[in-house]
Amino acid sequence: MGVPRPENPLDGDTRADVCIVGAGYTGLWTAYYLAKADPSLRIVIVEAKFAGYGASGRNGGWLTNSITGGRDGYVRTHGRDAVVRFQDAMNHTVQEVIDVAAAEGIDADIRKGGELNVATSAAQMQRLTAYAAAEAQWEVAGSELLDAGQTRDRINIAGALGGIWHPHCARIQPATLVRGLAGAVKKLGVTIHEDTPALELGPGAVRTTRGTVHARYVIRATEGFTAALAGQKRTWLPLNSSMIVTAPLTAGQWDEIGWSGAETLGDMAHAYIYAQRTAEGRIAMGGRGKPYQFGSRTDVDGHTPEKTVRQLTEMLNRLFPATEGTDIDHTWSGVLGVPRDWHATVGLDDDGVGWAGGYVGTGVATTNLAGRTLADLVLGKRTELTTLPWVGRRVRRWEVEPLRWLAVKSLYTTYNAADRAESAGRTRTHPLATAADLISGKA
Ligand SMILES: Cc1cc2nc3c(=O)[nH]c(=O)nc-3n(C[C@H](O)[C@H](O)[C@H](O)COP(=O)(O)OP(=O)(O)OC[C@H]3O[C@@H](n4cnc5c(N)ncnc54)[C@H](O)[C@@H]3O)c2cc1C
Repeated sequence: MGVPRPENPLDGDTRADVCIVGAGYTGLWTAYYLAKADPSLRIVIVEAKFAGYGASGRNGGWLTNSITGGRDGYVRTHGRDAVVRFQDAMNHTVQEVIDVAAAEGIDADIRKGGELNVATSAAQMQRLTAYAAAEAQWEVAGSELLDAGQTRDRINIAGALGGIWHPHCARIQPATLVRGLAGAVKKLGVTIHEDTPALELGPGAVRTTRGTVHARYVIRATEGFTAALAGQKRTWLPLNSSMIVTAPLTAGQWDEIGWSGAETLGDMAHAYIYAQRTAEGRIAMGGRGKPYQFGSRTDVDGHTPEKTVRQLTEMLNRLFPATEGTDIDHTWSGVLGVPRDWHATVGLDDDGVGWAGGYVGTGVATTNLAGRTLADLVLGKRTELTTLPWVGRRVRRWEVEPLRWLAVKSLYTTYNAADRAESAGRTRTHPLATAADLISGKA
């Protein structure tokens, strides 16, 4: 899929019922459900580049049921029953995306094979066992602990000591999904103005470089790019993630690797990796790379440093020795939004300004739940979705520079050092990594 040419830039001031800023999954799902629920609404999306330019067009393709930031914080604030409802909603969201893609004729190579996370060192195994024990308390999660043999029966990962699998995940082709969704909302009468960056948004109006959109409701769906909007510099920290994609593997390589079940694959490292076997028989693998740029600047059109490509390739070869020497056909990076407490949020204020984001690395499914929730909020409906614990969640903003830069740099330096020590034989989680979780606000 080539880079799309931006279409239909805004041409002066205009009016709408709802103006959405950002044409990624969040903006498009919101428009989709609003247009379905009330076809008379005039919905306008303004997009800085083209639909799918952001993380939605370049993610790892894990359509998974994770509650961003985990369940524990919500248990403390909302109680266990509310979290069971939230998890159940996320499980259903995975299927909702699959069903809508089928209904709209979007062929995004979707296959639901669950999610497998593996441990490849003793310290990782210790974390995995503790994680599995915690998961066992949540029937709704559907997780199964696998021993080394069961893990390798699924995917033959070198050095795998064990794994944990759950069924609520599908691998997808992310760009096909987002472009298909853009086509689907246009068919429903939604207007998308590409090449139209918003400078500022507030009650009743979105000011762009090409004119102002006046609207009763204004939705911010800019995720990792939010810091560039006026007044939003410290709302969400933009974190980079990078990916490599191999050339299609041969039948012999796949015989050695297995992976016939289309599971998405992750590990238990602190600076973890995520991977999928694509429909074309490639392995797409991602990881942190260079995580953050001073001053919350975002990446330049996905350029990925050589060092990051080398690190990811070494990891690929380590997990799958059969890939040694295989060409890397594609590399890219993207940006995701991180709130101060690492928990995603969705909401609509009384003045008609709504938002969703802060998904960290888990937005592919969550954006759909956000879109349905925002649609209900805009339509003034109180539903099962609008009462989920993440709705209206607010946290303090990130620190000023240079503290942000120092914090993220130290966090990932610590994680990488802990991962190296654990790979070299350390059997328990490095205490610095635990401390880093606490200080960063993740724990
Ligand atoms: C490399 C990578 C891998 C990932 N892998 C996974 C994964 O496997 N599974 C998972 O669940 N999540 C993953 N994520 C996260 C996931 O992709 C995101 O959470 C999700 O796509 C967010 O969607 P969004 O619509 O909120 O944001 P985006 O897709 O980033 O869309 C925001 C849009 O807003 C536009 N925009 C920004 N500023 C303005 C402005 N001022 N005016 C107008 N438009 C603007 C941007 O151009 C962009 O199109 C990954 C992210 C990255 C970067």
